Amino acid sequence: MRDLIEAAKCVLFDFDGPICHLFQDRPTPGIAERLREAVLAGEEGDGWLPQTSDPLEILRLAFEQPALVERGIARDIEQALTKEEVQAAPGAFPTAYADTLIRTLAATGRQLAITTNNSQQAVERYLQTRRTGELFAERIHGRSSEGALKLKPDPDCLLRALESTGTHAKEALMIGDAPRDLEAARAAGVAFLGYARNERKADELRAAGAEHTVDTLRDVVLMVDPRAHV
Ligand SMILES: [Mg+2]
Repeated sequence: MRDLIEAAKCVLFDFDGPICHLFQDRPTPGIAERLREAVLAGEEGDGWLPQTSDPLEILRLAFEQPALVERGIARDIEQALTKEEVQAAPGAFPTAYADTLIRTLAATGRQLAITTNNSQQAVERYLQTRRTGELFAERIHGRSSEGALKLKPDPDCLLRALESTGTHAKEALMIGDAPRDLEAARAAGVAFLGYARNERKADELRAAGAEHTVDTLRDVVLMVDPRAHV
């Protein structure tokens, strides 16, 4: 795992998980309910009510319905979710050692980028609260709201990050907490380090084929800088 980190000239972070717990103060079932209301507000949307409390899953399913896309309802859901995420951002709970890891990677000359299925605006809002925004300036790659919704496991946001950082895939490392992050990294040809805050997450990552996982980012900080006081 040390080789993985030493070789990385650029680190691509998933946002919700490795950097913070976005919806700490804003329970996702309530968000899902409000997104469903956005569907119902559209004239042609009723009859389509996915039974999941995962807001991103609702969004993904909406973009699979041509009728919802054509009538702009899928886009309305995307905008409603962006609003929820931006409102949640100031109350998001920082992942332990994430700020230290970000600053240590930057101090050792690595480029940093965010590759997330969340909205760019929510990431910017959160990073403002942590005063680390400038370390990611112009390199925050959220879901696109134009045209097709290319959420991970589609590698779209990673490919955009490789371009914005001018990095070859072989010189980048992604830190993510879900199998879809691993799949996206594989598709982009980027090495992957799994962050699993509990056993369930670790099992999911290993089942998906993750070779390297940590249960605390402290381990990663110490690999980047063995003298770090953490
Ligand atoms: Mg995540």
